[in-house]
Amino acid sequence: MAGSNPPESSPPTAKRCAKCGACTPVCPVFRASGNEIYSARGKQHLAEVFKDQRPGPVFEDIYSKCLLCGACSEVCPQHIDISDEVIEARSTFSGLYGEHGYQKYLARKALNRPELLGAARVLGKTAADMLFRRLPPASGLRLRLALLAQTPAPSEILVSPLKQERSGGAAAQIIYFPGCAARYLYPDIIDSISMVLGRYDCELVTPDGLGCCGLATLASGTKDEARRLAKTNIGALELSEGPILVSCGSCYAHLASYGTLLADDPAWKTRAQLVSERVVEISVFFEALLKDETVAVDERLQRLKVFYHDPCHMRNEAGITEEPRKVLGSLPGVTLLELEDGPQCCGQGGLFHIGAPELSATIRDNLAEKIIDLKPDLVTTTCSGCLMQLKSAMAAMQQDIPVVHLTALVNSLSGKQ
Ligand code: SF4
Ligand code: SF4
Repeated sequence: MAGSNPPESSPPTAKRCAKCGACTPVCPVFRASGNEIYSARGKQHLAEVFKDQRPGPVFEDIYSKCLLCGACSEVCPQHIDISDEVIEARSTFSGLYGEHGYQKYLARKALNRPELLGAARVLGKTAADMLFRRLPPASGLRLRLALLAQTPAPSEILVSPLKQERSGGAAAQIIYFPGCAARYLYPDIIDSISMVLGRYDCELVTPDGLGCCGLATLASGTKDEARRLAKTNIGALELSEGPILVSCGSCYAHLASYGTLLADDPAWKTRAQLVSERVVEISVFFEALLKDETVAVDERLQRLKVFYHDPCHMRNEAGITEEPRKVLGSLPGVTLLELEDGPQCCGQGGLFHIGAPELSATIRDNLAEKIIDLKPDLVTTTCSGCLMQLKSAMAAMQQDIPVVHLTALVNSLSGKQ
């Protein structure tokens, strides 16, 4: 999402769009709605029409209907960064733009204080009833909060049973950025990584002072706030050295772009770039860690059919698709399942599922039906948002197919125990 800076009060220009339409069939919002104005070509056309005017509510609503999935930019012969142009456009909108603008505003505020998510996990469905009763009926947020209430309680990040058994010699320390979801909603992700690393005499270290990565804030167009969140994390991370492990694919892609986000800030540009260059996505790390392991195949696990969901930020932005598959391929007994027509967006899209709950649910359920047709024993992914969305998909479809983070599978099945 490398950025240009158009005037504050005008939408992005669309001079480069060739109107070829290559972006239309790959757009999840177009596929779910059948409305071409929501595709990249539609948005480019709209930007051209409105280029000399301040955007109004219709323009704002159409620009709110984008997941920032990057699928259009992948096929665009003009190499237009649509996500970046949508973010630029949103930065000129009011704070309450689009449908359900107030709910999106509240969610952004909550991400500024991610510890509130921990309270939401504890409160579970009660929080859904009390805090989100104004959400539209189709919103999956109540369902998600109810699901969160079922997750295990947090445990100490740096202590694993295996490490406690080890004696002598200091463990190698690996700097870790957990992101809001692992830290406050799914602490079992952190436990799983700690358990795996403990077998290699390594321990996770989470620096003090980390907050939300800022991706959802940037996606809403609140760029100053996104920069503030980035600076907070950079200040905390630059006190350490070495690789920074990131277990959420979307957080990873955003941390890797801090250098771009702060490229026009002389005081922060280099600091941001240095942090961006240190981040390592968890499947890339696991692939390197596990590739030389020899594994004993457990016959009971021979038919564990696993579907891996590619998070859009991993697939289209970071280009990380092979490593998670290699990791899964290295686990004993795992058979990897693939969709016939290739990876697809889950419809979560940061705050998209709050602002466009019906479209989000349609995209989610279209994917869920295809996954269920494959008859997996288990679904896995590496993005916290996708994890939530896929859990809600299986619940909505009344399926008991488990949805777990990749780290849980590696912890359970990797050869070194
Ligand atoms: S980023 Fe994704 S949702 Fe947005 S216009 Fe492009 S393909 Fe459609
Ligand atoms: S693929 Fe690119 S050039 Fe073609 S219509 Fe879409 S945005 Fe325009």
